[in-house]
Amino acid sequence: MATAERETKLYECEVKRRRVRAGGGYEPFWKTKKVADALVDADTEFRCKDCAGAVKLHKSHKVDGPGPHAEHKSRLDSEYCPSGMYFQKATDGREPRQSEHPVL
Ligand SMILES: [Zn+2]
Repeated sequence: MATAERETKLYECEVKRRRVRAGGGYEPFWKTKKVADALVDADTEFRCKDCAGAVKLHKSHKVDGPGPHAEHKSRLDSEYCPSGMYFQKATDGREPRQSEHPVL
């Protein structure tokens, strides 16, 4: 193959937000949103919505390049995440699973 293998681009991720708890105070929760929106909203904690693994967000810098997206930080996450490139390329019939180091 001429082109280098690239990690799958995730255009949605989960961001950590807080909401008011019924009994008072706040509780964290994960909200799915578009990576483009997460970048604009200056969210600080992210994870993959499919495997809960850590992801890194990338802004788009080129007009003709990919849009804002996220990629797994860990290759292991990608190997077992239903959205992961390595998982999708695997031919051993493996089952997807959550990240071994989920972002909580
Ligand atoms: Zn994932």
